[in-house]
Amino acid sequence: MNYLRRRLSDSTFISNLPNGYMTDLQRPEQAQPPPPASTTPAKSPTAGPTPPATSPAPERKPQTSQSTGAGFFSSITNVVKQTAASAGLVEQTQVTTPKKFKILLVIDEPQQEWAKLFRGKKVHGDYDIKVEQAEFNEINVVAQANGTCNVNMQVLRNGTKVMRSFKPDFVLIRQHAFSMTQNEDFRNLIIGLQYGGVQTINSLESIYNLCDKPWDNNNDLKLGAEKFPLIEQTFYPNYKEMVSMPSFPVVVKIGHAHSGIGKVKVDNHSKFQDIASVVALTQTYTTTEPLIDSKYDIRIQKIGTDYKAYMRTSISGNWKTNTGSAMLEQVAMTDRYKLWVDTCAEIFGGLAICAVKAIHGKDGRDYITEVVGSSMPLVGEHQAEDRQLIADMVLAEMNQSAEKEANTPQRPTTIQPSQGAGQKGEIVGEPTKNGAGRPPQGCLQYILDCNGVAVGPKPVQAN
Ligand code: ATP
Repeated sequence: MNYLRRRLSDSTFISNLPNGYMTDLQRPEQAQPPPPASTTPAKSPTAGPTPPATSPAPERKPQTSQSTGAGFFSSITNVVKQTAASAGLVEQTQVTTPKKFKILLVIDEPQQEWAKLFRGKKVHGDYDIKVEQAEFNEINVVAQANGTCNVNMQVLRNGTKVMRSFKPDFVLIRQHAFSMTQNEDFRNLIIGLQYGGVQTINSLESIYNLCDKPWDNNNDLKLGAEKFPLIEQTFYPNYKEMVSMPSFPVVVKIGHAHSGIGKVKVDNHSKFQDIASVVALTQTYTTTEPLIDSKYDIRIQKIGTDYKAYMRTSISGNWKTNTGSAMLEQVAMTDRYKLWVDTCAEIFGGLAICAVKAIHGKDGRDYITEVVGSSMPLVGEHQAEDRQLIADMVLAEMNQSAEKEANTPQRPTTIQPSQGAGQKGEIVGEPTKNGAGRPPQGCLQYILDCNGVAVGPKPVQAN
């Protein structure tokens, strides 16, 4: 082979080749038959059209000496072609199939089927949307400084463990990334997505910041207490500082947790000291706020330009209306409520999805207690509608970033030295933060056996 390569680099040798030989070299090779489908991949919850069924495995034929001969000659032909190409004697055309789908990663529990909301939907006119859905504890993220991000996902679907690896174009985060209850700290994944420059609804920065509840109690408000009645709150970085006495009764909120976990009502000094001793074991911060003699809780939610307000009243009599039974009613959306939620959205850099929680006291006053971002749980009878609104917003954002990507002028093309990919004549796009100019992104799917061992990667067919 090396002898042939040397000979072919010599232009006199090429010019002395018999007539028609170089034309033969430029003829396209016969297409290879597709490899036999050995395993059926578990179905991905893809919103795009179903890929064509794979053809049945071709019949096995005994190998003849002729086929070996053909293989030998074709390998010589390949060497001749490569060398002739690198000598600039034949024109080389690089055929790359652009990816015709965008991957949307939805982080949510499996009961919420997001794929069906994107079925048949297109991004930028002609990209299908492939929805990959998993919970935080089912994914891992590997990101590179050049803005590429690979998500490895291992999910259990219909009793089968499926492992997939893909580069998401967009992420919708519908689960809390952090809670101090056991094994619920996924902030590293938020950092990974940010590092990889993945587009999201609500910035990853806001998602990260809202992982600590005291972060949302932003006092730098120009509106004043009348228009924006934020509850009085004291922050203790650790138990050692819990010596200054609040006026009782207070609610002590330990660290960051959801569903009423870590919230304790404290009536007096000695109970406060008891709680401080418990906080000592947790290695975390605490906040205290006055216990409001509450009539009902208020929740104002914003999904894009859709606003809804709810009132929640405890039935079981628990001071936490999110514990035990409670009654939820939709109430009129007022300008005052709108101002609260818009202000919070603005504080966090323009949240597309958020909710503000407040308590309406028996004294007739409101007390704003918390802001929740894109992971806010949906409540009430309009949940299906709200989910659709979120899906529509994701689609609009995906369209916008695809448009931006298309309008971004490509960096000057680079001619790579002739080795492997990037041979003479090939146009190599520079990878960018948002993925423009990236090579077509593939999606590897692995089938796992019942012990969780990968029994072979399988390339997923591009739509
Ligand atoms: P979720 O996960 O639902 O957001 P959470 O863990 O963040 O809940 P909070 O909303 O802070 O907990 O508190 C739970 C409930 O306790 C509230 O819905 C409210 O009914 C009650 N509550 C919280 N703070 C106070 C307070 N300062 N005074 C009176 N009741 C309060």
